[in-house]
Amino acid sequence: EGKGGSNLWCFFSENMTLAARERIALESRLRNALAQGHLQLFYQPQIDIASGSIIGCEALMRWFDPVEGMISPGRFIPVAETSGLIGPLGAWGLEQACCQAQSWRDQGLPAISVAVNVSLHQFLLTDIVGCTRKALERSGLPAECLELEITESALAERPDEALVVLRNLKNLGLRLAIDDFGTGYSSLAHLKRFPIDLLKIDQSFIRDIPQSADDMAISHAVIAMGQSMGMEVLAEGVETAAQLEFLRQHGCNFYQGYFCSKPMAATDFEKLLRGEAQR
Ligand code: C2E
Ligand code: CA
Ligand code: CA
Ligand code: CA
Repeated sequence: EGKGGSNLWCFFSENMTLAARERIALESRLRNALAQGHLQLFYQPQIDIASGSIIGCEALMRWFDPVEGMISPGRFIPVAETSGLIGPLGAWGLEQACCQAQSWRDQGLPAISVAVNVSLHQFLLTDIVGCTRKALERSGLPAECLELEITESALAERPDEALVVLRNLKNLGLRLAIDDFGTGYSSLAHLKRFPIDLLKIDQSFIRDIPQSADDMAISHAVIAMGQSMGMEVLAEGVETAAQLEFLRQHGCNFYQGYFCSKPMAATDFEKLLRGEAQR
């Protein structure tokens, strides 16, 4: 029996070093990918529910590895977060998104905003204000066309520090959104103090509409609460006409999701915008 236990230990510890080794390997590959231009931003449209028109897009990072193919941000952002790579990676993403949005403006395409994700460590441990200012300056994008998405959990972590950073970002003139709202245990007392323009209802609350009465009640409450606090509300992960109809009936401002479109390469998004101009 003792022997079995020891074998079990070997099994676990080998697996752990394997996981650690894999993480380190991924980190160095990610560093290379950034240097060699293997990262790309995809864009998902954000739709105004009342008019049906595109009012913005969310930039979502993609890694195209020559051997492995597409690696999802769910896999490499956490590695970047714990390795310090999130600084340069985040700076690249911000500048890339701003330059792309400005290029669409230069081409006279319909005016839209671009939303960029800011992760926990990027928000609390890097110079996010300086980085954002630089991206705006270098791209020439007006600040009001940029939106930063910060997860509710990042704000809940250290609310007093978060408030200072949020105010400094707001002073640049951009828009601020809370991402994954409803999943991060932030208190309403803090929420009220934060200078937030948009609440993004997490897709886990949208997925089971209209089957789940609980999720419908929660989504309805978030829409009402956000709007009563002077914020606009966007629903994420909308996949069906029934979900969209529910959101319309409850006065939700915007939505994103496969029902309209998956995230797509910049060239494809540009075609969508050209079509929009002809509507
Ligand atoms: P997120 O910010 O919550 O982004 C929404 C995710 O939901 C995206 O996954 C998007 O492709 C997916 N999605 C959109 N519509 C639907 C839908 O109708 N149904 C379903 N099932 N999913 C939908 P993605 O692109 O894999 O990104 C995953 C996460 O990685 C993001 O979650 C965000 O936290 C992070 N991320 C992505 N790009 C960046 C980035 O540039 N910087 C940082 N810091 N994080 C990023
Ligand atoms: Ca997001
Ligand atoms: Ca989200
Ligand atoms: Ca999420």
